[in-house]
Amino acid sequence: MFQRNCSSTTSATQSSATDGSATEDALPGPKTDDPPTLGPRILGTYSRGLPGPQVMVTGGVHGNEPAGIVAVQRVLAALAAKDAPLRGSLTGIAGNRAGLAQGARYLARDLNRRWVLDDMVALLSRDPAKDTPEDREQRELLHLFAPLLAAATEPLVFIDLHSTSGDGAPFSCMADVIRNRKIAFSLGVPVVLGLEEVIDGSMLGFLCDLGHIGVAIEGGQHDDPATADNHESAIWIALVAAGCLDAADVPDLADHQRRLREVTRGLPPVIEIRHRHVVHDADEPFTMLPGFANFQPVGDAQVVASDSHGDVRTPEAALMMLPRYQPQGEDGYFLARQVSRFWLALSAGLRRSRIDRLVHWLPGVRRDPTRNDHMVLDRERPRAVDVFHLMGYRHRRDEGSGFVFTRRRPDATGLESMPSALQDLLDAAVAAADEA
Ligand SMILES: [Zn+2]
Repeated sequence: MFQRNCSSTTSATQSSATDGSATEDALPGPKTDDPPTLGPRILGTYSRGLPGPQVMVTGGVHGNEPAGIVAVQRVLAALAAKDAPLRGSLTGIAGNRAGLAQGARYLARDLNRRWVLDDMVALLSRDPAKDTPEDREQRELLHLFAPLLAAATEPLVFIDLHSTSGDGAPFSCMADVIRNRKIAFSLGVPVVLGLEEVIDGSMLGFLCDLGHIGVAIEGGQHDDPATADNHESAIWIALVAAGCLDAADVPDLADHQRRLREVTRGLPPVIEIRHRHVVHDADEPFTMLPGFANFQPVGDAQVVASDSHGDVRTPEAALMMLPRYQPQGEDGYFLARQVSRFWLALSAGLRRSRIDRLVHWLPGVRRDPTRNDHMVLDRERPRAVDVFHLMGYRHRRDEGSGFVFTRRRPDATGLESMPSALQDLLDAAVAAADEA
């Protein structure tokens, strides 16, 4: 959607962070009849060269969600105008530039999927001439992230800004590793756990698996002007929570906190995803009934949508999340339930005490014979799922013999480098480009 020419900042990297400067690119106007021009990948970087966390804010990973781009540009401009004493750096990154240019969630496929090793190796092994628009986006993002990941000695902080097609208050999503909690809980908006359990291959999931910090923020409805305001408030609060700024460096911090508190008043602080309604091609047209919003209670077997087979009913009473009021995407809607503070404290304590290492001694649980970090749960013991969640095991796959659980790396220390199969391909591509 932003009609700016691809500028030289596209090749900028974290290491080229300038002293107290930020570049800013205006957001696009309405769609015109001109062929869409891609905006810059790097929206700007702000750093004073002080040691501290490197914060990467991505916006527009879904191309019909430009609010995050507006928000990070505003923060970058304000930091530069104030010459703010930021520790570390803040970099704004555009996600799906091709989608943004056309105001479409995606052109060929969801860019926030397929961040799994096999898919990425296949992508980088292919002739770039055969790339779909999103293949190209992912290829470029991998090349952007690779040197940052390789150089990182502390966890990088990734904040991925999204918006929703339905109405509803802001919330954050994170993989339930302890290191993600500080930033997610600082925002004062509901925290949604377990989306990664039902969605395979998100960008943040990949980065988080390497030991980095990743929080996604849904700022509100795509076209609501308040969505960019909510995102902006979230970025300021996150910069303080990450340790990049002191509260005193953000004079209007209380206003940002109040804004997010007020738009989420009365909502549960933490919920977990229980169900994802997948829309297959054969189910289209999938149409939500009008009027559903995030966090709205729905009953058991309530008709919430229709598809090619007829009525779509909920499998249980729960809270509606992310109802699909846009033509694209395989996520029809999600159902969630509240998680208690007691549960959160208990799960943190269990994991810190390393009792979680004993999870394979539970009845019905066995270690996967070939994959050490995978646990297999008998299909007859569904209640043990809650215990797995307590221990941070969330990613559930039905592999026939049982449910296979894995989890994000639980410890806050220690980073993994990019898998070598991937790094080798990235290095080879760079070498080939240098030669050309
Ligand atoms: Zn999104």
